[in-house]
Amino acid sequence: MARIYFDQDADLEHLEGRTVAVIGYGNQGQAQALNLRDSSVNVIVGSPPDASARQAEGDGFEVRSVAEAARAGDVLLMLIPDDVMPAAYRDQVQPGLREGDALIFASGYNVAFGRIVPPSAMDVAMVAPRMIGKGVRETFLEGRGFPSLVAVEQDATGRAMDVTLAIAKGIGSTRMGAIHSSFREEALVDLFTEQSGGLQLYRLMFEALVEAGCDPDVVLLELYASGELSEMWAAARDLGLFGQLRLHSRTSQYGQQVTSLRHLDADEVRRQFRAVIEHITSGTFAEEWDEERRSGFARLRPAAQANLSHPMQLAENRLYRELRRRTDQVELPEWLGD
Ligand code: NDP
Repeated sequence: MARIYFDQDADLEHLEGRTVAVIGYGNQGQAQALNLRDSSVNVIVGSPPDASARQAEGDGFEVRSVAEAARAGDVLLMLIPDDVMPAAYRDQVQPGLREGDALIFASGYNVAFGRIVPPSAMDVAMVAPRMIGKGVRETFLEGRGFPSLVAVEQDATGRAMDVTLAIAKGIGSTRMGAIHSSFREEALVDLFTEQSGGLQLYRLMFEALVEAGCDPDVVLLELYASGELSEMWAAARDLGLFGQLRLHSRTSQYGQQVTSLRHLDADEVRRQFRAVIEHITSGTFAEEWDEERRSGFARLRPAAQANLSHPMQLAENRLYRELRRRTDQVELPEWLGD
């Protein structure tokens, strides 16, 4: 079983006299910077002069350009989006690195797949929250904290894990537990969960029930639109995946544990999952994703457009308008627009 680190295993002293530069002030950057400051850590923010920088200044931080923050920081938290990180690292961060600095990532992807190769004289580590930024801040303020994965990829100073755990403590993660992992494992688990087809199954379930004559609104409410599903996942977090079934009817317990298996080709699903894992671990996915971005999202844009005009989305738009959940259409995100 993986080692889990708690508050007593971590010491904020390892950050004393050091400057932590939070590079990127978005979902994670804002939450982690605020938590670290509340933990009495000396934090500066590195950001381009945009809305994020203004937000950081408004929150009372000293804000510098990414390049200046990278030069000034002893411990750098890389909290910019993974797909723009290699270029920002190469052009703005790497020139400012000094021997013995620590470079800490919140995701294993770029290091695991060789998109960023830090100099050997640096500590390279990961504190990857298993929590969205909003939750990182809120659970810190509530005192509960949140889980994260921690790893050291390169220990140039012999103190890399001490610094990593100090960051995990400063952002509030060792209150709940920071679990030992690796960059590669974090990246694989993350990508596999995204690519194993969970969302697509919901679309297929919708299609099957509508084909069987059911009203799309009724199907949507059953599948996810009522919010019952989020209650179920919250119960799974607290009682366990199958433990939460005690909250369901007996018929549901029977269906979920007996009948569902009868129609599922588990060997075929295992074969497909192994193929997803092979696609990721071989590095083929990372190459595909690089190519996809170079092409201006040639595959993603039509796929996202098709989803927006799928009968399930159209039914959802109508239902959510009726229920006054939202009045506008769901649109392509700006970065994917024409
Ligand atoms: P965001 O999308 O919220 O963006 C982070 C910040 O980076 C924003 O302030 C953005 O500024 C800035 N930024 C964008 N492009 C550049 C650039 N080229 N140079 C410098 N700054 C730039 O990122 P997240 O917080 O979601 O993700 C940060 C890291 O945390 C990633 O490694 C991610 O995998 C990891 N992570 C994220 C989680 C999450 O809940 N979101 C959970 C766990 C880990 P602007 O907005 O002005 O463009």
